[in-house]
Amino acid sequence: MRTTVGIIGGGPAGLLLARLLHRAGIDCVVLESRSREYVEQRQRAGMLEQGTVDALREAGAAARLDTEGLVHHGIELRFDGERHRVDFPSLTGGRTVTIYAQTEVVKDLVALQLAEGPPLLFEAEALAVEKPESGAPVVRFRHEGRERTLTCDWVAGCDGFHGISRGVLPAGRSYTRAYPYAWLGVLAEVAPSCEELIYARSERGFALHSMRSPSVSRLYLQVPEGTDARDWPDDRVWDELAARFAVGDDWALCRGPITAKSVTPMRAFVHEPMRHGRLLLAGDAAHIVPPTGAKGLNLAVSDVRILARGLVEWHRSGESHVLDHYSELCLQRVWQATRFSDDMTRMLHTRPDGDAFDHQVQLARLRRIAASREAAAELAANYSGLPLPL
Ligand SMILES: Cc1cc2nc3c(=O)[nH]c(=O)nc-3n(C[C@H](O)[C@H](O)[C@H](O)COP(=O)(O)OP(=O)(O)OC[C@H]3O[C@@H](n4cnc5c(N)ncnc54)[C@H](O)[C@@H]3O)c2cc1C
Repeated sequence: MRTTVGIIGGGPAGLLLARLLHRAGIDCVVLESRSREYVEQRQRAGMLEQGTVDALREAGAAARLDTEGLVHHGIELRFDGERHRVDFPSLTGGRTVTIYAQTEVVKDLVALQLAEGPPLLFEAEALAVEKPESGAPVVRFRHEGRERTLTCDWVAGCDGFHGISRGVLPAGRSYTRAYPYAWLGVLAEVAPSCEELIYARSERGFALHSMRSPSVSRLYLQVPEGTDARDWPDDRVWDELAARFAVGDDWALCRGPITAKSVTPMRAFVHEPMRHGRLLLAGDAAHIVPPTGAKGLNLAVSDVRILARGLVEWHRSGESHVLDHYSELCLQRVWQATRFSDDMTRMLHTRPDGDAFDHQVQLARLRRIAASREAAAELAANYSGLPLPL
């Protein structure tokens, strides 16, 4: 097989890149190691920055998002029995965010791609990228029991944190941070108990109330590293959530059947550079952030917007200005999102070795946001998404 851009991974990064290239008249092939059912059901992100929504619109993939997405104008912070709302439009000159599950973004992109192309092969596992320094790199992959090759002008490594692409790059520099706690996430068949997301900091640990739709709630609890979800029967989850969200008024948490439960480690990782020869990494393949800032999916999309612009420029004019600066352009935004995710994580979680001093500093940070327009505006600007560096 031969194509212009070989895309490894059919997650949000790979699928959106394929769609943007297709609309610009550039052919590509997407190789996804899992089945369609698996990628469409994998529960993950749910908050889309304005720039992510714009990119999906630009890709002609926002028809359902525009009717079913829930536009949010702020978030609520809860701490020390108080609640404080951060209003995004008034602090950012009109920006909002949209709640629309990653599963739905993936379903929309898969459906479009299967209907209109370019080729998307499920259960096609990339095994190696050969000759990335040459003008014609080759992806070796296994599909339908046979080993095959895909010769490309460029290869996009969009295969997530556990993919093979990053390992093809010569040793660059990696930065990692493991946080000493994890998140227990549950999906519940119950209407959300709030209109906007609630980020709660309590001495019992962090809790987040999010949602997937008007009838499905998504909730998270900070738990110790290494927690087994089976140690958290449903009643224990609801009781702990209610205790962490408690405020001094009549707000009540609505309980309902829990349909999924999983534990996510909290870590950050950045690999530099994001390009080697004609292999370019995008999304989780190059970097991950703790989910407190809701940035992972949004960063995958911003990498892909930069990558698509670079490939379109190269295809139309033979110029490679954007591709030559791809890594620096992406990493500017990646490090800002990593810094923000780290700040939010440290401000809201209790450390197992934390003491009364840590507790007071966290409360002081939260009270500063509640009291200062500048501090709240800084949070709102980062949460709703910093501009692309292009
Ligand atoms: C519990 C949880 C909650 C999250 N919450 C948020 C949130 O609220 N907001 C947010 O912005 N982000 C969130 N994230 C992060 C977000 O889900 C990821 O950043 C996003 O999925 C990255 O997209 P991606 O396409 O880069 O990678 P992935 O979604 O990981 O996609 C990579 C794809 O590559 C495929 N693949 C892997 N290896 C190969 C191979 N060898 N050959 C072919 N295919 C391969 C995989 O099967 C996968 O489909 C969350 C993540 C988790 C785990």
